[in-house]
Amino acid sequence: MSERHREQRHDLLVVGAGPCGIAVGAAAEHAGLSCVLFDRGCITNSLLDYPYYMTFFSTAVMLEVGDVPFTIPDAKPTRREAIAYYRRVVEHWGIDVRQYEEVLAIEGSEGDFTVHTRPSDGMEHSYGAAAVVIATGGFQSPNFLEVPGEELPKVRHYYHEPYPYYDQDVLVVGAGNSAVEAALEMFRNGARVSLAHFLGEIDRGVKPWVVPDINNRLERGEIPVYWHHRVARIEPGSVVLRSEQNGRETEIANDFVVAMTGWRPDHAPLVALGIGIDEETGIPEHDPATMRTNVPGLYIAGVIAAGYNANKIFIENGREHGGLIVADRLSAR
Ligand SMILES: Cc1cc2nc3c(=O)[nH]c(=O)nc-3n(C[C@H](O)[C@H](O)[C@H](O)COP(=O)(O)OP(=O)(O)OC[C@H]3O[C@@H](n4cnc5c(N)ncnc54)[C@H](O)[C@@H]3O)c2cc1C
Repeated sequence: MSERHREQRHDLLVVGAGPCGIAVGAAAEHAGLSCVLFDRGCITNSLLDYPYYMTFFSTAVMLEVGDVPFTIPDAKPTRREAIAYYRRVVEHWGIDVRQYEEVLAIEGSEGDFTVHTRPSDGMEHSYGAAAVVIATGGFQSPNFLEVPGEELPKVRHYYHEPYPYYDQDVLVVGAGNSAVEAALEMFRNGARVSLAHFLGEIDRGVKPWVVPDINNRLERGEIPVYWHHRVARIEPGSVVLRSEQNGRETEIANDFVVAMTGWRPDHAPLVALGIGIDEETGIPEHDPATMRTNVPGLYIAGVIAAGYNANKIFIENGREHGGLIVADRLSAR
């Protein structure tokens, strides 16, 4: 293992360069702390997998980090505007982001951590730090349906754009924002869309301005809906749905399944470090006032702090974590 970076000990190393990791970097730069961010992908890597033409539900001002104005002509930014904005924040503060450099392991203790990484050249590196922030987000793995046929290539857990689905029978699973927006976009682009959800109505968190549109499509039967149904199995040319109420099975013609059933954080690296995870909520043990975990010198930032409920922490409030962590590091000096 290369020791080429080990001799320099940073004040902070941050795993993940999403919006909330970047907020930590900006707060550290502002306070004069030496800080390096690592991402196994590019800056804001998780935004690349969002629907290409999505608009954030938050206004631009609520997504700002590091006191860098997010100026756009409309209230709410698109995905493309947000990606460009967070890149600008990195440039503005001169944040040191090592893209395509995955963090493999973290060892040591407060004041003397070693972070082992593998950049795209394949050579493993190690870096020293007084403290480490884990800002790895909550989108590591989809919530699988766990039914026979899920491994078929026609089953998608990420939705990008409607065009592959023109003139196809598509089942959207779920009734949250991602499901509803994907269903409407595909419906408007010539797909025959159906929706299945294990509850009896769309989620309460669906963007209010989208609710009348989806409800009208469902009520008019333009998007047939199977409330109180789960997917029982997926066949190459059909899907079998099972009623939650009476167990009856319904088979519908199907070319694609778009499973918008949410995503989960990967807790394994946190557990390996000794960070406690609440079994029920999935929330890592931490003090919300400082974002310190139960392991001294290890912090969490961003949506990873939300556990299994990613609707609790998003950019709007996860962006505050950077300031809390940096304040705590300054007081520890
Ligand atoms: C469709 C959609 C719309 C949304 N709209 C809004 C909105 O309007 N307003 C809002 O506030 N929030 C919104 N959110 C939520 C918001 O995008 C997330 O909360 C946000 O991305 C979380 O930022 P983060 O920095 O905590 O994590 P992420 O952005 O997920 O970043 C985590 C990073 O860690 C990296 N990583 C993981 N493991 C490693 C490793 N071992 N080594 C190196 N790097 C690693 C990943 O590559 C990733 O880039 C939306 C989410 C979705 C899916």
